Amino acid sequence: MGNDAMIAEEARDHFIKSFGGEPTLVVSAAGRVNLIGEHVDYNGGEALPIAIQRRTAVAIRRHDGAATTRINSGGTGGVLTLDHARLARKRKWTDYPAGVLDQLIGAGIEVPGIEVAVASDVPSGSGLSSSAALEVAFGFAVRSLLGLPPERVALALLCQQAERQFVGVPCGAMDQLSAACGERGHALYMHFDPATVRPVPFTESVLIVDTAVPRSLRVSAYSERVDECAAALAAIRVVDPAVPSLAAASMEQLAAATMDPIVRRRARHVISECGRVRAVVDALAAGRRFPGELAVASHESLRDDYACSSAELDWIVEYALRAPGVTGARLTGAGWGGCAVVFGEPGALEALQHPLIRDYEQAMGHKARAWLVTADDGARVEAGGGASG
Ligand code: ADP
Ligand code: MG
Repeated sequence: MGNDAMIAEEARDHFIKSFGGEPTLVVSAAGRVNLIGEHVDYNGGEALPIAIQRRTAVAIRRHDGAATTRINSGGTGGVLTLDHARLARKRKWTDYPAGVLDQLIGAGIEVPGIEVAVASDVPSGSGLSSSAALEVAFGFAVRSLLGLPPERVALALLCQQAERQFVGVPCGAMDQLSAACGERGHALYMHFDPATVRPVPFTESVLIVDTAVPRSLRVSAYSERVDECAAALAAIRVVDPAVPSLAAASMEQLAAATMDPIVRRRARHVISECGRVRAVVDALAAGRRFPGELAVASHESLRDDYACSSAELDWIVEYALRAPGVTGARLTGAGWGGCAVVFGEPGALEALQHPLIRDYEQAMGHKARAWLVTADDGARVEAGGGASG
């Protein structure tokens, strides 16, 4: 909680230094970690992320000049100007807010001249989705400033389109939906086609561990998996043309279809993972703790069938599972580097952090980072109406 208030305060300070005077409004949106349901969003499946206490805050105010956005994000080096009439991809961080502006304007919203300061403690490029936190915080700030209702799901989808079309990242909607729709004390049971979000009680702590390994394989391997899943669905449709998505196919339908053995394994992951998501949701809805064994099964499926783990992720998962009080662990996010998530007693997770980081560096030569988090709110107003903090 202290941390949240700090990042909003940082955005306000940064605003005052950048533009002089107080912002009208400070809002924030959250980073996220997916508990289970990996590589299913682009297959019509379901996932179960939480918004976390790593947040991006945006301080905003109108200016009287032409319709431009003057924007400054801490550490990026000064105020940059985006002309609303001539938004163009520049291959830098301002593409994220520019993409959101482009979508808002495309949706018929007249965005006046604005001044914007950004502060964030979502680690960038680690897989906790700093990009979606930035997009959603910015879009939420603009809507709030104009007195428009948040329309969280629509805002998230608009931000997803901004990232797909303007930034050029072919992402699913999980990150933006988490950043926008998070609820403290709840995991978010998501479907993607059409997008729906149902909060499920989840008050446990989870430990996120960043492998600190560059995700070099990610882009090429990711699109390879997307293609393999499309091939699997096409093969299943030869047997049963009515199957709407790979996630909706059954193991029986998969067994009856003819396909490359590698493609079959990818499909087996997607279909089995959706079953695990539903089993976890049922357990949480019934008031039980997160079933750690399903996290382990998810990791094994991602490692063996989907081939998106790495030596570092496997090391962290195996190390964590040896600790007393730890009930489950798995890679989270796309894989090929990025983060793992660990489940168990809060004391056990707390005690695990230090030795894990020490021994991981010894074994793998990278400095891991770890964050103990609980489910937090998505986009929210931190301070408004000229309030001072
Ligand atoms: P992830 O979303 O997993 O953190 P991405 O590569 O999708 O990784 O997004 C990271 C990029 O988003 C950064 O390189 C930067 O361009 C942009 N970004 C995220 N947060 C901020 C911020 N607070 N200020 C400026 N740019 C940011
Ligand atoms: Mg991202």
